[in-house]
Amino acid sequence: MASQIRKIHQQLMDKEITCTQLVQDKLKALKPNTHNTVNALLDDVALELAAKVDAKIKNGDSIGLLEGIPFGIKDVYMLQGTYTTASSDLLKHYKSAYTATAIQKLLDAGAIPLVKENCDSFGHGSSSENTIFGAVKNATNPNLVGGGSSGGSAVNVALDYTVFSIGGDTGGSIRQPAGYNSVYGLKPTYGRVSRYGLMAYASSTDCVGPIAKSVEDVCIVLNAMSGKDVKDQTTYASKEILETDIATTDGIKTVGYFKNFIESEAIHPDIKSSFLAAIEKIKAKGIAVKALDFFDANTLVSTYYTLAMAETASNLSRLDGTNYGNRIEAENLKETYAVTRSKNFSEETKRRIVGGNQVLSQGFSDEIYLKGLKLRDQISENFENDFKEVDIILSPVTPNTPPKIGDSLKDPMAMYLSDAYTVGFSLGELPTLTVPQGTATGLQITAAKHNDELVLKFANFLKDTI
Ligand code: GLN
Repeated sequence: MASQIRKIHQQLMDKEITCTQLVQDKLKALKPNTHNTVNALLDDVALELAAKVDAKIKNGDSIGLLEGIPFGIKDVYMLQGTYTTASSDLLKHYKSAYTATAIQKLLDAGAIPLVKENCDSFGHGSSSENTIFGAVKNATNPNLVGGGSSGGSAVNVALDYTVFSIGGDTGGSIRQPAGYNSVYGLKPTYGRVSRYGLMAYASSTDCVGPIAKSVEDVCIVLNAMSGKDVKDQTTYASKEILETDIATTDGIKTVGYFKNFIESEAIHPDIKSSFLAAIEKIKAKGIAVKALDFFDANTLVSTYYTLAMAETASNLSRLDGTNYGNRIEAENLKETYAVTRSKNFSEETKRRIVGGNQVLSQGFSDEIYLKGLKLRDQISENFENDFKEVDIILSPVTPNTPPKIGDSLKDPMAMYLSDAYTVGFSLGELPTLTVPQGTATGLQITAAKHNDELVLKFANFLKDTI
């Protein structure tokens, strides 16, 4: 699909549509909340901003590419004055005191925020069922999950309720729902986009990224959000990716894939055969393909969940009903903390807090947490070696198609294992994009750290190849 952003920009400039009409139409589509994607509609602010864009156009002023483009925000980003609930009971009434850097940059470019989007509470999940706002339904089959944790964002884009949405990806939460709903979803290199104002899940892998319907739109939104931010010391300065930079396959000679992902018993036979068919098509275009060795799914998933749980237990310790959250008074302060947290966190979140505190506690941390850190280093080293031999790594997004609503809640272990193909790239801090092609849940394109440009380039090539 061609760029929706460019198309709408042209229509606005040519006065074929007004921004107010566009925003009203999108709000009307979102309002019935057909797929449980909406935590809060931002109608007042959206219409006010749209009127300003219309006034500018009427005046004959030129507008920027993102000016007047309606977008969605996963409900874990601060937007001053709006509720930011993380889909949790604890923060059900929490209003953001400031705006996240990535969102502010989009506002500065003139984009219009429409909706705070449903997701797994605090990003904990792979199905967007761990939420107080009702399970997000898949865009193509409402009996299936929307994926997670950025499920509401992916479904809104797939249904054209938003032109693009901003998700958050700690271990796959942009890429997996993008795959489940056949749209593009990018987890940029860790640090390319500031995390300031994103509610922290696991700070060492949390990434801000766009979900959209074309490579070009992903690129436009990524450029707008990227850059060094003094409020996030892990950010770095990056250069703008131009359309001409990603129009050719220059620099892509060899593509690798992980043998054990494809040979695993857990992969659905259709996903396996379509992945291998995609590899053949790439070879037919004269690109060399290399099978690579990698860590097995159990090691990847346990390393990721050990570190992610440790970090989330620590990050969420500040939510005790005193500075933040829905306080429930009890007999004394200690009891108040306990009741507030046990009543207001979901079962899944509590499982992670308990697990995380366990792996960090004296007597366990050397054996579990430090081992996890060591494995993470080995995984990163493995990637560094791979990228000496290949330019791109291609993989399926998930071993299986989306489960039915209700199934993941019954079997958390199966849900954790469904993240087998996404979490490794998070631990490696690598740029990885889901494209809605190749298998029933798409393909993931990964390049070396800081090489987000190559990922988008290869996505453009795949568009015409499979
Ligand atoms: N499903 C993974 C988890 O629950 C990833 C979630 C995410 O990226 N926020 O940890």
